[in-house]
Amino acid sequence: MVSISALQDITKSAKEKNAQLIAVSKTKPIDTITTIYNTGQRDFGENKVQELVNKYEMLPKDIQWHMIGNLQSNKVKYIAPFIYLIHSVNTIKLANEINKQAEKNNRVINILLEIHIAEENSKSGFTKKEITEVLSNNALGMLKNISICGLMGMATYTDNQTIIRNEFRGLKHFFEELKATYFYNQPEFRHISMGMSGDYKIALEEGSTMIRVGSAIFGDR
Ligand SMILES: *Cc1c(COP(=O)(O)O)cnc(C)c1O
Repeated sequence: MVSISALQDITKSAKEKNAQLIAVSKTKPIDTITTIYNTGQRDFGENKVQELVNKYEMLPKDIQWHMIGNLQSNKVKYIAPFIYLIHSVNTIKLANEINKQAEKNNRVINILLEIHIAEENSKSGFTKKEITEVLSNNALGMLKNISICGLMGMATYTDNQTIIRNEFRGLKHFFEELKATYFYNQPEFRHISMGMSGDYKIALEEGSTMIRVGSAIFGDR
């Protein structure tokens, strides 16, 4: 069940912290998304390419679509014409492919670098060490058709709020470090995408600028 009151509460919490809500609409049908759209929400997140493309085609064109799931390089071409922000860039190969497809479409695509902050090995993302190596070699600076807008991370799936808070705090700290070292003259490097239904409140307290919330708004999947 969709909850408009939850949507309004979460939007308000985000705004109070100058953060943005990405409504995660994966698996949810067009009419449900339309209901949320009609309240004024314009940023939606999806994690599968085919579903994202279908929804893009069927829904109003002023929606800003966010790719938040694992993205295979060979599928970048399908979303390159329209995607607003790719949160889940977790390899150099993927960054290169996004750059290539963005160039073909004569545009610059916004991306976030996904950082592995959780204890679980199952979660993806660059390690902090990998990112530091990549940035000090300027391996991404050459890619003129991507714009690196910040970092994304997912906390450990746990009830232990201290663990979650420490992971978010660590990501924020790492963001500040990278900002000061590699992005000090790039104002577009300003986003920290962290926080989901279970932990967005902690994420906002720890400096998130984009929360990605699905089930708290759309109901269980
Ligand atoms: C599904 C998903 C979300 C939203 O999860 P909820 O717990 O439903 O809020 C956020 N981020 C990513 C990467 C996801 O895959």
